Amino acid sequence: MRKRRVWRGVLSLLLVLMLILPAGVWAQAAAGVPKAVHHGWTTDEGQVAHGKYGMVATAHPLASKVGAEVLKRGGNAVDAAVAIQFVLNVVEPQMSGIGGGGFMMVYDAKTKKVSIIDSRERAPQSARPDMFLDENGQEIPFPVRSTQGYAVGVPGTLKGLQAALDKWGTKPMAELIQPAILLAERGVKVNWVLARDIAACKERLSRSAAKDVFLPNGEPLKEGDLLVQKDLAKTFRLIQAFGPNVFYQGKVGQALVQTVNAYGGHMTMNDLKRYHITVDKPLEADFHGYHVVTMPPPSSGGVTIMYILKLLEEKNAWQTALRSPERYHLMTEAMHLAYADRGAYIGDPEFVDVPVQGMLDPRYFKERAALIDLNKANSDVQPGDPWKYQQSGTPNRTVKQPDNKHIGQTTHFTVADRWGNLVSYTTTIEQEFGTGIMVPGYGFMLNNEMTDFDAVPGGPNQAEPNKRPMSSMSPTIVFKDGKPVMTVGSPGGPTIIASVFQVLMYTLVDGLDIKSAIEEPRIYSNKYPKILWEDGVPDTARERMTQMGHQFESSPQSIGNVQSIVIDPVTGAYTGATDSSREGWAVGLN
Ligand code: GLU
Repeated sequence: MRKRRVWRGVLSLLLVLMLILPAGVWAQAAAGVPKAVHHGWTTDEGQVAHGKYGMVATAHPLASKVGAEVLKRGGNAVDAAVAIQFVLNVVEPQMSGIGGGGFMMVYDAKTKKVSIIDSRERAPQSARPDMFLDENGQEIPFPVRSTQGYAVGVPGTLKGLQAALDKWGTKPMAELIQPAILLAERGVKVNWVLARDIAACKERLSRSAAKDVFLPNGEPLKEGDLLVQKDLAKTFRLIQAFGPNVFYQGKVGQALVQTVNAYGGHMTMNDLKRYHITVDKPLEADFHGYHVVTMPPPSSGGVTIMYILKLLEEKNAWQTALRSPERYHLMTEAMHLAYADRGAYIGDPEFVDVPVQGMLDPRYFKERAALIDLNKANSDVQPGDPWKYQQSGTPNRTVKQPDNKHIGQTTHFTVADRWGNLVSYTTTIEQEFGTGIMVPGYGFMLNNEMTDFDAVPGGPNQAEPNKRPMSSMSPTIVFKDGKPVMTVGSPGGPTIIASVFQVLMYTLVDGLDIKSAIEEPRIYSNKYPKILWEDGVPDTARERMTQMGHQFESSPQSIGNVQSIVIDPVTGAYTGATDSSREGWAVGLN
């Protein structure tokens, strides 16, 4: 007994030494060394960057720099992705983290296969189909239901990261989490995105331990202030020492469960223990001479993106000019048809059959495309019947849902390494700051992913124990002649689909370079008649479309936040590009 204790002491000492030693180097990486030369590497950085031997593109410069540092030290794209996710939890705490879930798509250059680590949150055992209705059977308003303990899905991120490392990683989690620990402990400068989001979520944050971190003295941290997260650093150190078990079976989990329940939820340690990720096969479809590999259910993303692109191809949309009313009209009509089916038929495939094959059958989109009038907005779009073309499965009942959710923003990033491995990873806590609930003493935010389930029960996406809510997240990798040529993805809840299909269209069809495609003004409309639009959509196009029966929001707004890597098919060189709607940063290695 005593001997074991001594051994344990020696091992802990070794671990601590191991962790302290590289600290200085990590700190340097985290502080960012522009145009640094390490072990012979030079970096090229900016919202567009070029790299022969590696590329990282994230929505935050520190996350990108740390990712690049992992690559420089011989880590692969998955190692870098794990380090990046931990750093994002610190520098973009409103967007993603260990209190959430996500989809990590990985292209393994050795096997030439794409797989997805699906760490989507699952409903706790207490979940019920009618959990979002009040005692009169009325839907609980979104601002209320999205901020309660019962909105918290069982988080998957940490198990997902561990699974990715077990499958592809070359470095231990304990090493990859170190930069995030230092950044959380020493503090990071609040950027304009975080300052904006803290101010916007002030009320939600003031109900929990989050107020001490983000609203010191009751006032939101401002741009340029130092954000120090000691509790989060403590949690990360526990993970560093004991691994993800401390979260799923240990004291971090206990604190999480207690917090969820203190805010009106019903989660147990058993929910955490039984949480499991899946390794998913992607959804694949040919499009315009390319092979698009994208996200299957429980995401609605991949199938809806491909559906929209196929409808546009069917309507010869490519013959219309960029930014013309004709193009925007076709895009809007195609979105309406596709989103109608998305709402009606998609749910977690572990629970319901999803007619993906029917939705992507050429006969089906011919039939749907015939509903598009070239001169007039269709004011009565209904879901179609893809089951006619589906060879197997049982149709579900469809239930009309109210459309009153606030559109959240989380985060997407992408990594490429010198061996040609690629990661395209969208990761989330659902709305900005999730529920607004922080686990006290542990410093991380709890997601509100449960509100991605339908509020009105009866359909394929109703809440049920252990089920994953329908997502829109769409990490994607595009191939040409068997070789990967591009990664893409975006946050933005349901608008993700619009952002990703538009960037695919502008690059693969219209031939824009990746940065121009990302900056091309986007539109989003999930149903007649309202259209969200970005600055840059010409007035003339909006006027003409208004005559056709569409309605534009009174002012422009930013839609999504796309990060992408393009791979030169001949040289294999990478171009990374990030979106100006945040502080996106690409770092290439040469
Ligand atoms: N909860 C959203 C979804 O899964 C993600 C939000 C986002 O990434 O912005 O679709």
